[in-house]
Amino acid sequence: PETWKRVPLAPPDSIFKLTASYKDDPFPQKVNLGVGAYRDDDSKPWVLPVVKKANQILLEDPAIDHEYLPITGLPAFTAAAAKLILGADSPAIAEGRVTSVQTISGTGANHLGAAFLSKYYDFNGDRKVYLSDPTWVNHFAIFRNVGIEPLVYPYYDPKTIGLAFDELVTTLKRLPAKSVILLHACAHNPTGVDPTREQWGKICDVFLQKKHYAFFDCAYQGFASGDLDNDAWAVREFVRREVPLLVCQSFAKNAGLYGERVGALHLVAPSQEAATRVKSQLSVLVRSEISNPPAYGARIVSLILNNPELFEEWKRDIKTMASRIIEMRKELYRLLTEELKTPGSWDHIITQIGMFSFTGISPEQSQALTEKAHIYLTQNGRISMAGLNSHNIRYFAENLDKVVR
Ligand code: PLP
Repeated sequence: PETWKRVPLAPPDSIFKLTASYKDDPFPQKVNLGVGAYRDDDSKPWVLPVVKKANQILLEDPAIDHEYLPITGLPAFTAAAAKLILGADSPAIAEGRVTSVQTISGTGANHLGAAFLSKYYDFNGDRKVYLSDPTWVNHFAIFRNVGIEPLVYPYYDPKTIGLAFDELVTTLKRLPAKSVILLHACAHNPTGVDPTREQWGKICDVFLQKKHYAFFDCAYQGFASGDLDNDAWAVREFVRREVPLLVCQSFAKNAGLYGERVGALHLVAPSQEAATRVKSQLSVLVRSEISNPPAYGARIVSLILNNPELFEEWKRDIKTMASRIIEMRKELYRLLTEELKTPGSWDHIITQIGMFSFTGISPEQSQALTEKAHIYLTQNGRISMAGLNSHNIRYFAENLDKVVR
């Protein structure tokens, strides 16, 4: 009875708790806008048709066994994944300067990147990382776990429900040289607010001036615009301009492989020789933590990325998801501004990008939506656009209208 006396009870994870409350709610018109997972127009999870095809190919392949993968993952997967994010014609890849390691989805990539920096980055004093305010909440715990203190830089301006660009740039200029700064590659979670290309260019200027290190988190490639290359633009621009960086890549959302945990960490090094040394130490870390990554999801994604026909089909599936989300944005905007004449400006609903929208409503209003209308969303007013569909969008708009009046 003494052994665990000093273990405090941790609060449940807020997002997973929200999903549990939603599941327990018997109200027929309940709506779940909490979790960032794609749903079809009937609120159902969607297995991508291309994933079904790849799955069938795997099932029929007599050469498939259950042996261990190499420590750094399935080579055909990691090589194709690097091309997907950095570009098929990336000079950094051609020069052998990119180190790619398979990870436990995007979370694992963030962890491995953080663990590697904690051990080997020249922090010039205390280990610190700068995160956007706000960010995916898990970032804080991931960095703390490896002894890096998470601090924030200004990102979101509640007054404009947009990017706090001037404050962001001023802060990046003020930080010590060679700071590690986390950037969302596209479809910023939770705000849905991304810099424009011009703004990215100016952010990149500061990184070069100050020799900052860019820690890119890319969990939504394809989800922002429906176009994989478009959504990789910022990362490729930083690589082209030779900002030192790494990229965390997830296939949870864009391939609908959430539970299969398929992702990668790509580190762009200054030389092939440095990349080799980095990879050797990443291998040491992976070996001690997971020994080697899971095979199934990587095999599926590898088939899709390496087969031109399947790749084209995947791009169509991504368009299907992204287009439905963009449609929902337009319809919500129309309902609020034209039909319901809801007070306030709602332009941000259509200018924000990706899975999420920051509605700008208060924690009290968010709570009222849950208590009065059985609409589940996080307290910060973030809604997952993928939770909206043709059957529930009017119900949501009418109740949003009620709580803001
Ligand atoms: N990074 C961001 C910004 C995210 O929003 C998510 C998922 O919600 C992840 C990383 C990691 O997701 P996963 O580990 O499922 O790939």
